[in-house]
Amino acid sequence: MYARVYIDVLSGSVDRPFDYRIPPELTGVVQPGVRVQVPFGPRQITGIVISCTEESDVTKVKPIHQVLDEQPVLTPELLMLGQTLARETLCLQMTAYQAMLPAALRGKVVKTLERNVPLAELPPELAALFQSRRRVSWIDAQKSGTAMGVVREAVDQGLLTIEEVVKDQSAGRTLQGVQLRGSYSAEERLELVGNRAVKQKELLDVLETSERPMLVKTLAEDYGISNAAVNGLIDKGLAEKVDVEKRRDPYGARDFETSTPLALTKEQTHVLTSIKKVQAAGHDTLLLQGVTGSGKTEVYLQAIEDVLNQGSEAIVLVPEISLTPQMVERFKSRFGEAVAVLHSALSAGEKYDEWRRIHRGEVSVVVGARSAVFAPFTKLGLIIIDEEHEGSYKQEDQPRYHARDIAIQRGEYHNCPVLLGSATPSIESYARARKGVYTLLQLTERVNQKAMPEVKMVDMREELKEGNRSPLSTVMLEELEKRLERGEQSVLFLNRRGFSTFIMCRSCGFTSQCPHCEISLTYHKRHHQLKCHYCGFEETAPAACPECGSEHIRFFGTGTQKVEQELNRLLPEARIIRMDVDTTSRKGAHEALLQQFGEQKADILLGTQMIAKGLDFPNITLAGVLAADALLKIPDFRAAERTFQLLTQVSGRAGRDERAGEVVIQSYDTEHYSLLHAQNYDFERFVQTEMQERKRAQYPPYTYMVLITVSHQDLTRVIKTANEVAHKIEQHKQPSTALLGPVPSPIARIKDRYRYQCMIKYKDEPDMALLLQQAVAPYMKEMSKDDLYIAVDRHPQMFM
Ligand code: ADP
Ligand code: ZN
Ligand code: ZN
Repeated sequence: MYARVYIDVLSGSVDRPFDYRIPPELTGVVQPGVRVQVPFGPRQITGIVISCTEESDVTKVKPIHQVLDEQPVLTPELLMLGQTLARETLCLQMTAYQAMLPAALRGKVVKTLERNVPLAELPPELAALFQSRRRVSWIDAQKSGTAMGVVREAVDQGLLTIEEVVKDQSAGRTLQGVQLRGSYSAEERLELVGNRAVKQKELLDVLETSERPMLVKTLAEDYGISNAAVNGLIDKGLAEKVDVEKRRDPYGARDFETSTPLALTKEQTHVLTSIKKVQAAGHDTLLLQGVTGSGKTEVYLQAIEDVLNQGSEAIVLVPEISLTPQMVERFKSRFGEAVAVLHSALSAGEKYDEWRRIHRGEVSVVVGARSAVFAPFTKLGLIIIDEEHEGSYKQEDQPRYHARDIAIQRGEYHNCPVLLGSATPSIESYARARKGVYTLLQLTERVNQKAMPEVKMVDMREELKEGNRSPLSTVMLEELEKRLERGEQSVLFLNRRGFSTFIMCRSCGFTSQCPHCEISLTYHKRHHQLKCHYCGFEETAPAACPECGSEHIRFFGTGTQKVEQELNRLLPEARIIRMDVDTTSRKGAHEALLQQFGEQKADILLGTQMIAKGLDFPNITLAGVLAADALLKIPDFRAAERTFQLLTQVSGRAGRDERAGEVVIQSYDTEHYSLLHAQNYDFERFVQTEMQERKRAQYPPYTYMVLITVSHQDLTRVIKTANEVAHKIEQHKQPSTALLGPVPSPIARIKDRYRYQCMIKYKDEPDMALLLQQAVAPYMKEMSKDDLYIAVDRHPQMFM
């Protein structure tokens, strides 16, 4: 028997399967989807088996050295999906598989076999392996020549368990546990303890009913069993101490109150019924458009409950930034231990723990960010993508996939529905729903029947005319003051990208640029530093102009720090929490700040993008946007769409309970249709206008796009390559396909690498993946060797 293996070397030159012989002792364990160690040149390299065959065309086939998994880590479905992914996104096969697996599986997991039964109950081969030992490492078992098929069967029968430890920073966090020792019967144990040792008998009782070692700490806290009793039992040879890996589930540690399904409104009932109908019939993609507060999440919960009742599983995708403890709690309180959470803030070990619970079938619901779409479920009954319009569902490096596309492919495979939800669906999804490609469901009313907060628009040009140079308009200040008087809270939103602070010399116009990137440096007041947001370059802000020596240096723009300063000056009594990349870079800082605000330890929450989502605090009655048009100015065809979405989302933060909320939007351009329709919560009209714009300029959903970016330190090399790639595409494309460029990218240099781009807009190409593949294939070898890089981004979300 032979195995076809993709090896873990990320290079275009080895991006194909290699044949290896399966040695007899590994038969039955080596199967598609397991990881193996194989000889490759002088080295041993990890690889993934994609198929097993009876024959091989290769003359000198080397044997597989070791098998690393007792069960496949990739299911047949995921193996197949990975192939499509590699082809469609033009990435290496191994890159595609790695995207589906937790990072810890790249060689840092130590596995140990542990025996659960007396030696006599093990098959002779295993008894010989274990002898008097209780544990044997997975590697030693293979070195001893033991048939791994026998090992796996014993695991399946529960004679052995496999313990896995991830060797990362979080390893070594073990706790002390106690477990029974020896192969005594229950009566024999009782006899050995003796009648007088009451506590030790209690301990015996606990240990006998527990499947896993008990923590010494838990015994003391929950059972009132002291260390003395534990030691007593150990002295009698009936128990032993063991190290127990601390379960690193950051949410599991807390207790969640259980919640029960709410009685649904008429609209909610209708939506749920439609979802169930599709579920009974098979696969379809549903788009649920529901205004903020219309109870989408409750519908998700009840749809999932239905799926679980049928013995199936569900995946819920939530944008990274909305995956707050509040969000997690809603799922955990309904489904308890059945929920795993995959969050990028988890350590490698924590992620691996959660992934393993899914892999072993211990959970049936996964709530997670983008990559959770690859959760190794085998009985999927529903995939939900909340806030489906979010750009973060698109991965910006390889494999450049969109979670929505993967979800739909998985939905087709499992013949189950995919439910996309949003208050402001992406224009692309909405157009598909309107055309009948997706099924459109709507929730038009808020559960509490309350009107959406009133939105006031402030023209900042007028403010300037009246001599107000502050980033805060008079109206905004008045509203903030009212909230302070009433003890209510406000959120102030500032777009990070559009307005950050930079310095400029008033005498000669000099601005401080990053020496490595084509971009202005951002001024950070706290350390009086200039920083590049692209490459991390930092320098001390100059006191005089480096060009002309003038001391008239001004700080321009309205960064969050500057607004905070302004607030402190104008509203000295207000307590402010600032949330931006600087204050939230530490792990857990984001949540800690939100919690403080939730506990009303501040009056104003000032922040970037990250505060627009998921904030659900009843005491917020004012939401303010400081520069609404900053977003509109970003050179991206989705600028109007993103602005509309953001303003709607921000407005949703105010007035979540009884008191009416208000929204103040400041802008220099007050006539733009995305602002006007957002002001009236008129999604339908916004879509109409936006669709006309898209049609006129031939942007999605009227076309598909591809962005090709070439980068290298040598500018001539970049231009030459970009031209060659463009030429190749030009030769083979359909006449209706438009090729734009090559031109310098909007940010023409990052980290000393020059960047050129080509854009493709197409409607009908028989095989775009192949066309692109052919255009970039000649450079694949160069790419790994001398730093030339060609990024091919299909259906791009970012154009920088
Ligand atoms: P959305 O996700 O659409 O913004 P949520 O699901 O968060 O809306 O619901 C908003 C609020 O209304 C939540 O506090 C939720 O618990 C509550 N809610 C949802 N459905 C119902 C219902 N049928 N009856 C009572 N309260 C509900
Ligand atoms: Zn100057
Ligand atoms: Zn830089």
